[in-house]
Amino acid sequence: MSPILEIQNLTHIYSAGTPFEHTALSGVSFSVERGEFIGIIGHTGSGKSTLMQHLNGLLKPTSGKILLDGADIWSDKKLTRQARFRVGLVFQYPEYQLFEETVYKDIAFGPKNMKLSKEEIDRRVREAAGFVGLTEEQLEVSPFDLSGGQKRRVAIAGVIAMEPEVLILDEPTAGLDPAGRAEILRNIESYRQAKNATIIMVSHSMNDVALLTDRLLVMNGSHLAMDGTPNEVFSHAWDLVDMGLDIPEVTQIFLQLQKLGLKLPPVYTMEQALDALKGGIIGA
Ligand code: ADP
Ligand code: MG
Repeated sequence: MSPILEIQNLTHIYSAGTPFEHTALSGVSFSVERGEFIGIIGHTGSGKSTLMQHLNGLLKPTSGKILLDGADIWSDKKLTRQARFRVGLVFQYPEYQLFEETVYKDIAFGPKNMKLSKEEIDRRVREAAGFVGLTEEQLEVSPFDLSGGQKRRVAIAGVIAMEPEVLILDEPTAGLDPAGRAEILRNIESYRQAKNATIIMVSHSMNDVALLTDRLLVMNGSHLAMDGTPNEVFSHAWDLVDMGLDIPEVTQIFLQLQKLGLKLPPVYTMEQALDALKGGIIGA
């Protein structure tokens, strides 16, 4: 099957031709298969958010192409508009963009723009609320009366209600407590499973991305530095450290033990670490 998204040699220069010119993306290429769950990591300023905003046509490439189902989304206006709906983008701190009087109206905003019938909008709002664990009663309150974590869920529901084939989330768990983070990750997983959706998630939490995703992309200084399974990427853990990334503690401990001469595989979860130790040191 052909990839759902193809990013070809994408370069983005902000304020080109002015003293503020800044190259945020240089020659980035990768493709995304239908149904994949991709994690994006990279230091602050490496171009992650700029990259995400290209995938649904919000930003236009300075050069290079974005293909959705094989068609260049900038080759015609209809395709650009379609990309906005087929690829849903949840911004960093999306709760700041809530503005309606009720949670219901906020979630309905996207589907309304798609000119769907009232019944279809209603069905989608209720279904999206279900995915993120909001109750019927909460649909009628003002979003401003909710907690931070609940507001975040409303904002995510607003994008889910558009039923995007590709759901992009830019640091969806940033600033939440561990319980709130786990809840959001469960919400994303339930949407993915119910709709067979493709998910692209930017995260500063290596633990979250390593555990949940099929594939990791690592951005470094406007370039795509790595593209592989979590296992492949963590087998280059020293390079991640060099890029200024916070690798999981258990990975760090294993790196130190390798330095001391112990033969150990790359790990990024406690379970992998325990398995490796059982098979190696302890079993020996
Ligand atoms: P990340 O999400 O990885 O932190 P961004 O894509 O937000 O990275 O930013 C990449 C680079 O582009 C940074 O150096 C940032 O300062 C710059 N940048 C981001 N947005 C703009 C903008 N609107 N105008 C000019 N420069 C920008
Ligand atoms: Mg960002």
